[in-house]
Amino acid sequence: MSVEKNLAVLNEQIEAACRRVGRDPDSVEVIAVTKYASLERTKEAIQAGINNIGENRDDSFLNKKQYLTADKPVWHFIGTLQSRKVRNVINEIDYLHSLDRMSLVKEIEKRADERVKCLVQVNVSGEQSKFGLQPDEVEQFISKIKDYPKVEVIGLMTMAPYTDDETIIRNCFQQLKQIQTNIKNMNLPYAPCQHLSMGMSNDFQIAIEEGATMIRIGSALIGDEK
Ligand SMILES: *Cc1c(COP(=O)(O)O)cnc(C)c1O
Repeated sequence: MSVEKNLAVLNEQIEAACRRVGRDPDSVEVIAVTKYASLERTKEAIQAGINNIGENRDDSFLNKKQYLTADKPVWHFIGTLQSRKVRNVINEIDYLHSLDRMSLVKEIEKRADERVKCLVQVNVSGEQSKFGLQPDEVEQFISKIKDYPKVEVIGLMTMAPYTDDETIIRNCFQQLKQIQTNIKNMNLPYAPCQHLSMGMSNDFQIAIEEGATMIRIGSALIGDEK
């Protein structure tokens, strides 16, 4: 399927999910995750009207970016970022979705030319295989960021567990929303925390119902290149 066709189906599903909970579809941004996509396929996505591109590895991101300078997509880094890679990518991206430790905050402070829009990654599901802070660590972590003016916390990010059990997935997204509410109530000027980056190809409809403002879609959009 062409990206254009996939996007048309996706947009209908987004609209339906928004309708169920009385949300404006414009309040949900689609990030096309191109980590498995060729450069051609990535260009196809941009031509189909995709504006936000998500990559999870520094090398493939930097490689793609150099060929897409004319297209000027908004770049989202969604993978774990090793501290030694910060200097290569931090001034090339628009959003970092995987802020998960103080050493990374410090490295960003050292390497960034300008303020970086970051989302704090939270391991709500508690799965060992998942990266991110534990839910009860988030408030303290964000409090400490006050001393690092290059880091702006514009939201929270999570990945739900791989399961068919909708209740477990929904509960995970609800918990992230609750943490967001707590952070917003702290009224920190450097942490407006207005975004929730949650929902992937298999669970974005639930995520939208629970308040996602950024959904990260790979396979359902870019998936099968044939
Ligand atoms: C790969 C990836 C996605 C997209 O996954 P799909 O299931 O293909 O939609 C979203 N978020 C992160 C962090 C990813 O690594």
